[in-house]
Amino acid sequence: MLKRIIIATALVITSAADPTAQPAAQPAGPSTITAIRAGRLIDPETGTVAVNQIVIVEGERIRELGPNVAVPAGARVIDLSKMTVLPGLVDAHTHMAMTYKEVPENNVYYLTYVLDSTPLRAIQAASNALQLLSSGFTVIRDVGNNGNYADTALRAAIEQGWMPGPTVIPSGLIIGGTGGQFTPTPEMAKQHNLVYPEYLEANTPDEIVKAVRDNLLFGAKTIKICVDCKPWGYSVDEIKLFIAEAAKGGAKVDGHVQTRDGGQRAIDAGIHVISHGQQLTPEQHEQMAKKGMYLASTDTPFTAYRGSAEAQKRAADQLRSAWQKGVNITFSTDMDYWNERMKKDNGQWMSRGDPTLNFLLTWKAAGIPAKDTLKAITINGFKAADVQAERGPINAGNYADLIAVAGNPLEDIDALRDVQFVMKNGTVFKKDGVITLDHSLNPGPVNGWRRR
Ligand SMILES: [Zn+2]
Repeated sequence: MLKRIIIATALVITSAADPTAQPAAQPAGPSTITAIRAGRLIDPETGTVAVNQIVIVEGERIRELGPNVAVPAGARVIDLSKMTVLPGLVDAHTHMAMTYKEVPENNVYYLTYVLDSTPLRAIQAASNALQLLSSGFTVIRDVGNNGNYADTALRAAIEQGWMPGPTVIPSGLIIGGTGGQFTPTPEMAKQHNLVYPEYLEANTPDEIVKAVRDNLLFGAKTIKICVDCKPWGYSVDEIKLFIAEAAKGGAKVDGHVQTRDGGQRAIDAGIHVISHGQQLTPEQHEQMAKKGMYLASTDTPFTAYRGSAEAQKRAADQLRSAWQKGVNITFSTDMDYWNERMKKDNGQWMSRGDPTLNFLLTWKAAGIPAKDTLKAITINGFKAADVQAERGPINAGNYADLIAVAGNPLEDIDALRDVQFVMKNGTVFKKDGVITLDHSLNPGPVNGWRRR
């Protein structure tokens, strides 16, 4: 009996230690070839349109494209010859597993953390992912406030093919000095069992290194830090330490910036993305442009459910300054709220995509041309997310992520509000304005929490 137990244990250990025992991720079916006939194909990098193009998709990736590409025998043909085809959209700053409300928490987001569990928030994130994909978002940077790593779980679930969704670039927990963005009571800070782990605390160089490593271990693909949530914040050297440690795990650093001084420290340290940055001066925008930094200024529009005319004007003025100075501006929202007024004209609830795309109101108020807004919501977003080498631009070899709209967003950016077609990783998710889930839901591969 003892011997049998030893053999069984040995077998378990062998298979657990053998990396080949885990099945590699495979597409659900055999490699299919799809030919997409695009009436107009937009390259947002150059702001140009090519007419009557054919895009050949093989499996998950784009094989070739052009006006005279031969359609392989037996290929499935998707006719978008009356549509405009373009890359998927990017929200460079959002929170998928965070929704504070008027009832019961009166928009006090401390309370959301106490009242809503991480599992509930993770399921909400999955629903939000479907809604955003339906609105054409194929990449999102999900930068914190997701409970106990609901964001990295969402990425894993989508990667494993359990559900369709945008490619998620999760930050894991936001790293800050004690309290993070909160001002905890001494009891909260000591006990760490109420509203924690919404933030990961790091006050010293050793703690910074550990916090970055923890987040990377738990699946973060970017590191989000509180540059100046407290008057002491992080120094230039400390931000540089974040950048160096994150780089070991292939991640870049995004800094929440709410003061001019904090912005300067982030610029001097050469951070990849500045989030918010509403206090930055035109001179600081100029420095950002010189360094090729990305700005996610989360420009809240004035709508029936949120914001004010004055706040939108301030946001638009800041955005215009950044654009004029040549900063790599991204489309970013900080969408993390809900209320009873978030209904469409026909009385139906808005999807998460509707208020997200309403941020275009601020871009229009800033007077930014549609061509530059389109570049910000695609190309600049792919680069801020650091995925552009294999995902985003409609190039041969890239993952086949593309959308189609009826109008021409280079002339009228609001054409993006009516996404009729969505393909993600070569699989059609939406066609003729209708979501088709038949090929998008799979039980596997099931790799669990361990990442490949
Ligand atoms: Zn945010």
